[in-house]
Amino acid sequence: MLTLQDPTLLKTQSYLNGSWHDASAYFSVHNPADGSLLAEVADGGVEHCQLAIAAASQSQADWAARPAAERARLLRRWFELLLNHQEDLARLMTAEQGKPLAEARAEVVYGASYIEWFAEEAKRLYGDTIPAPSGDKRLLVIRQPVGVVAAITPWNFPNAMITRKAAPALAAGCSIVVRPAELTPLSALALAELANRAGIPAGVFNVVTGADAKAMGEVLTRHPAVNKFSFTGSTAVGKQLISQCADSVKRVSMELGGNAPFIVFSDADLDAAVAGAIASKFRNAGQTCVCANRLLVQQDIYTEFANKLVSAVHKLQLGRGDKEGVHVGPMIHARAAARVNQLVQDALAQGATCLTGGPRTDLGDNYVAPTILCGVSNQMAVAQQEIFGPVAPLIAFNDEAEAIALANDTEMGLAAYCYTRDIGRALRMGERLAYGMVGLNEGIISNVAAPFGGIKASGNGREGSKYGLDEYTEIKYLCLGGI
Ligand code: ADP
Repeated sequence: MLTLQDPTLLKTQSYLNGSWHDASAYFSVHNPADGSLLAEVADGGVEHCQLAIAAASQSQADWAARPAAERARLLRRWFELLLNHQEDLARLMTAEQGKPLAEARAEVVYGASYIEWFAEEAKRLYGDTIPAPSGDKRLLVIRQPVGVVAAITPWNFPNAMITRKAAPALAAGCSIVVRPAELTPLSALALAELANRAGIPAGVFNVVTGADAKAMGEVLTRHPAVNKFSFTGSTAVGKQLISQCADSVKRVSMELGGNAPFIVFSDADLDAAVAGAIASKFRNAGQTCVCANRLLVQQDIYTEFANKLVSAVHKLQLGRGDKEGVHVGPMIHARAAARVNQLVQDALAQGATCLTGGPRTDLGDNYVAPTILCGVSNQMAVAQQEIFGPVAPLIAFNDEAEAIALANDTEMGLAAYCYTRDIGRALRMGERLAYGMVGLNEGIISNVAAPFGGIKASGNGREGSKYGLDEYTEIKYLCLGGI
């Protein structure tokens, strides 16, 4: 049973135009830890999307016309409310998503940090003056909000993936319609309740719930009143959504899949590398897009590193996220667990060895124990696909050139990690790894001050940092003549 200090944070209807909207049908939200029913949520679908876009359209000009300091004040109030309700938001998140409570609490702070950051950045939406090529002109550059934003967000970070988009959008003067993953709508609706309490005006921040992702996606990507579409999810769905946006030439930001190499050279601090690998690989049970996907380990330390990693993995406790002391929770659903187990089976059939882990059916079909595979090749499916589960495949390499070649041999380009104590090598690797983000002697790289995003099939655009606001602004050039 889910008990909250403030039970009114548990909402089950779409939030649009500043009020809660019911629907004639509902969809169920379950707890991945045990399959129990958490809530029946309004299946607002296409109709709620259309209503929300109309509301966002209507409210946007007034919101943009307010002084930046006022938008900043309201965002700041929203940020403080998130922190005031951290425990309830974390409990809701663990219940619907499965991650350990400690991680859920940390995500609430992390998600809130984007609201705080962009509350501050709202006031720094500077323009430019450009020296003109002739004396009778003055060239000015101003930055304006792109307008109405639509966003589709995933289930793995049910809070932060929304605030990373909504906070810069609102700071820039945009309004936004968010369609959260149908697996985790409760965190999104709690955010909406707090936005309402913060005084964010009606229509500026909207959350539409529904089970039919495809139909809702059609509206959000094709509606003529939507100026910009932002997505976090799989590359396959992202490609489809980009093509849908092409018809009306919408601006897009895409945070798509990853296939992060985690490279350990023999000159690395091995204990630091093991700690980094554990944090990067097993956080959120391996269900993050920047999770280490393949561990590339230099041949001469391969066995030593593998042994140290196995010892560290043996200390990780698997179980329900709301149980004290648990480090690794369930997968989001049994299908996800079965897919991860299938990747492991495929690797074993091709000659890999399992050093520890495997399925844990005694806990239920959603659980996969932290697993380490050795003797993996980069051609195996477990190395080419995004695992999105707590499985660490170890691949041996001989030298720097081979490490780079293996690391870059993927269509993805989100995050990469490299451990070495040679500063020249660290810089060379940083420059040559074809990824949007590189952790050098660091396994956790994501924070509000840094630009998060990928290249190649991992998407485009950056979230967070001073660059994050650019995604929600247009540059306008004014040419003043006759001077
Ligand atoms: P994941 O594998 O992490 O679930 P998806 O790309 O399938 O990644 O899902 C990310 C988000 O996109 C979720 O909110 C999901 O409901 C939504 N989604 C999935 N398929 C579609 C689609 N065809 N059109 C629009 N949204 C979609």
